[in-house]
Amino acid sequence: MPAELSSERAPQARPAPSVSAAGPSAAEPTRGIRLVGIGKRFGNVVALNGIDFEIQRHSRIGIVGPSGGGKSTLLHIVAGLMEPDVGQIDVEGSTKAKDRLARCAMMPQRDLLLPWRTALDNPIIALENRGMPRPAARAQTRPYFERFGLAKFENVRPAQLSGGMRQRVSFLRTLMAEKDVLLLDEPFGALDSITRSQMQEWLLRALGEVPRTVLLVTHDVEEALLLSKTVAVMSPRPGRVVRMLETNFPTTGSRREIVTSREFVDLKEQALEAIG
Ligand code: ADP
Repeated sequence: MPAELSSERAPQARPAPSVSAAGPSAAEPTRGIRLVGIGKRFGNVVALNGIDFEIQRHSRIGIVGPSGGGKSTLLHIVAGLMEPDVGQIDVEGSTKAKDRLARCAMMPQRDLLLPWRTALDNPIIALENRGMPRPAARAQTRPYFERFGLAKFENVRPAQLSGGMRQRVSFLRTLMAEKDVLLLDEPFGALDSITRSQMQEWLLRALGEVPRTVLLVTHDVEEALLLSKTVAVMSPRPGRVVRMLETNFPTTGSRREIVTSREFVDLKEQALEAIG
């Protein structure tokens, strides 16, 4: 293990909080995301049952679990696209669905870039929608192309970009919405495994540069551990949080150094065991 990894504090695991235990209180507005006793059903299908967690502003939580376990439902509830049947939810002090919606920007699994717009003119849409003239919107967005390894691709159409590049532009579009909370729904699910690994490393660095409160939904335990400070491990349906894991990996190490470290391998084991 590299010396820089061994000097880090060991990661910790703690059991999932229960609704009735001394979990988060719904009494005060939060700066971050707080869920208390969230439940949701679709007809006879109980999608979510008693979800509790709280993360601080500019922290990152990964929601990991098997397919059909309610991860997307949870993300849509946080985003304000639907309300839970029971429980309280607070996103940066907003509790009503329409207010939560205004706080969140979502990056979907498949980039929804407009094919007729150039790479630069896709992420500026959020700024234009707020009334910013196109030249100013381009000027504000251009520096990110440099920072995110997209320089020289500003005038290229999405169809001419690689899958990884399109996802970077898609992430940039999410970022330019200038919302407090980023919701990432299987952001690299459509990419091949090598590109996916490269994008995870890239996103880790990018989020270090532009701090946001992040909720990442993925079925990939490694991705969740690598990109998140807290990982909520969900059970098969009905979705419950069966384990909360805290990560504390160095931000300086390479992806390979991090994922091969003893701490990472231990946490991955714990997550996989909790999923069952
Ligand atoms: P995941 O994202 O973990 O794969 P989902 O949140 O998509 O899980 O789905 C959880 C369960 O809820 C699944 O059984 C799914 O079929 C069901 N479900 C999700 N959305 C709806 C809906 N709008 N109507 C009916 N059932 C739904």
